[in-house]
Amino acid sequence: MSSKYEYNYVPVENDVQDTTTEAWVKLCEYVEIIAEKGLTEFNLGEAIDAKYWSHIHTLPPSIAKLKKVKKLFLYGSNIKRIPPEIGEMDALEEFTPYTSYNLHWFPYEITNCKRLKNSTVSTRALYGNYKYRKPFPDLKDNPVTYDKEMIACSVCSKPIKQSETEQWWISIGIATDVLPLLVNVCSNSCKKALPKPAKGYLQYPHKGAKNLGQPPRDEWYR
Ligand SMILES: [Zn+2]
Repeated sequence: MSSKYEYNYVPVENDVQDTTTEAWVKLCEYVEIIAEKGLTEFNLGEAIDAKYWSHIHTLPPSIAKLKKVKKLFLYGSNIKRIPPEIGEMDALEEFTPYTSYNLHWFPYEITNCKRLKNSTVSTRALYGNYKYRKPFPDLKDNPVTYDKEMIACSVCSKPIKQSETEQWWISIGIATDVLPLLVNVCSNSCKKALPKPAKGYLQYPHKGAKNLGQPPRDEWYR
């Protein structure tokens, strides 16, 4: 990988999901069933035939209802985004998006999943991962957007218009991996309340973009 490629502009991908597809409708129904029955496992492969996985690029916000789910399996999916509502999955212990190569970042709200202890993430896909230092998209002219106007501060949960949040990237150790997280903050004090980033990563919340000055890639992987 040449340095020219490495530092090229990286767009944030918004509006990832076509919600008119049958696959999306089925996925939403599956979420309701798992929630109603109080089941402990969520498996994308059970919800939708693998041949339609290319139609699924995120999960619905209704995953907030999955209060009993301990295991979330998204192995080999085409998912690009995880909604902040994952933070409301209080029982989540195991998160398996492994080989979901389009999944480059996670919402900061995943830090609310206090029981999460196992994750298998394809680290080469992650922004900033120490092996490749994949560049973070520039949030300045290119914010992550949501399909509703009001969202919540990632730190204090206060409702806030998405146009009024400040967005930051921060890399934090979650379960077994260091994950690049997107934070929406309502205020400077919420920004200051963010935890210290993982060792070997930028030691402050940042806006991404070229010339970011990430630490060098791990020697081993050069
Ligand atoms: Zn806040």
